[in-house]
Amino acid sequence: MSSLYLHIPYCKKLCYYCDFHFSLNLKTKADFVAALCKELELQHNFLNDTALDTIYFGGGTPSVLSPDEIQYIFATIRRFWNISPTAEITFECNPDDLNLPFCKELYSLGINRLSIGIQSFFDDELHMLNRRHTAYEAQQSVHNAQQAGFSNITIDLMYGLPHQTLERWKQNLDRVSQLNVQHLSCYALTVEKNTALAQSVKRKQVIPQSDDVYIQQYNYLIQWCEQHGFEQYEISNFAKRGMYSRHNSNYWSGKSYLGVGPSAHSFNGTYRFWNTAHNQKYIDTLQNNQLLQESEQLSHSNICNEYIMTTLRTIQGIEIQRVQQLMTSEEFDSFLKQVQTLIQSEKLCMSASHIYCTSQGFMVSDMIIAELFV
Ligand code: SF4
Repeated sequence: MSSLYLHIPYCKKLCYYCDFHFSLNLKTKADFVAALCKELELQHNFLNDTALDTIYFGGGTPSVLSPDEIQYIFATIRRFWNISPTAEITFECNPDDLNLPFCKELYSLGINRLSIGIQSFFDDELHMLNRRHTAYEAQQSVHNAQQAGFSNITIDLMYGLPHQTLERWKQNLDRVSQLNVQHLSCYALTVEKNTALAQSVKRKQVIPQSDDVYIQQYNYLIQWCEQHGFEQYEISNFAKRGMYSRHNSNYWSGKSYLGVGPSAHSFNGTYRFWNTAHNQKYIDTLQNNQLLQESEQLSHSNICNEYIMTTLRTIQGIEIQRVQQLMTSEEFDSFLKQVQTLIQSEKLCMSASHIYCTSQGFMVSDMIIAELFV
């Protein structure tokens, strides 16, 4: 079974921190949908599988699509693949798009998991991020989704916001416990290059939080999740029992996936390609039945490093037998020495079968991953 990702590259407003690929110009949306369907046709042989286990509409903002456009995309997918009857079909949404009729449309189209970009339950924090929804819409979107029939809902929250106190972060999490959602993704606000936030930081209009505040808020998040029945299964992802994201878990376990849409990546274990991150060029090329892509054949060290990077972010960590198969014996010896050093500094733990981060290690996982690279 394989995974399909569809990138919907439109947003109605620019969030100040965002460095994803999207455009605010929705005039090309109809042409884009036609191009996306053409890409599905041209790429469908990439997956050695005719059955899809997970489908993920990400962005950008997939909830800018109309029900007719979504239906057309599904009809195209069904021309080339069987969608497993138990497939997980996730759709990312902005809260202000989720009125009750739209939620009902999404549900009737077969979407069975909503990912709602809430980020905060406070208007001043949403305003600071330049999000387009309000705190009221954030809560209402979850109620509407539930009323429409959705029983698998994940929400995104952000911590480490400028001026955000620990008390405020606690209040955000307390709102979650009132909503009966099944999954939670929590990300620290990071200042990415070439964003409006980076400009504000450069001009000293915004002062990022200190590492101490990030750590304090992250530690509280871990504690809160333990108390409220959310299992941590990746650095930033928490779920009620049995409600892990299957799509993301497939990524992290190195399974093949096809990504369509501008900037989307595809991977089959040894080969990766990615589409142009330019909407008009994407549309124009596909109108000529062609693809505008770059690709790379993963080298031996890329394959090892990719495996370390994706698995060490998960709670299970690195499977020792698997990494031993991937590496040469010299590489594996040197890897184990490095692991021992990181175990002594209490950043890693090792069981009979796996090597995984301690909670202290999760906070510096990027550094650990770099140290273990081949
Ligand atoms: S809605 Fe998402 S993709 Fe669009 S600008 Fe905001 S964070 Fe970026």
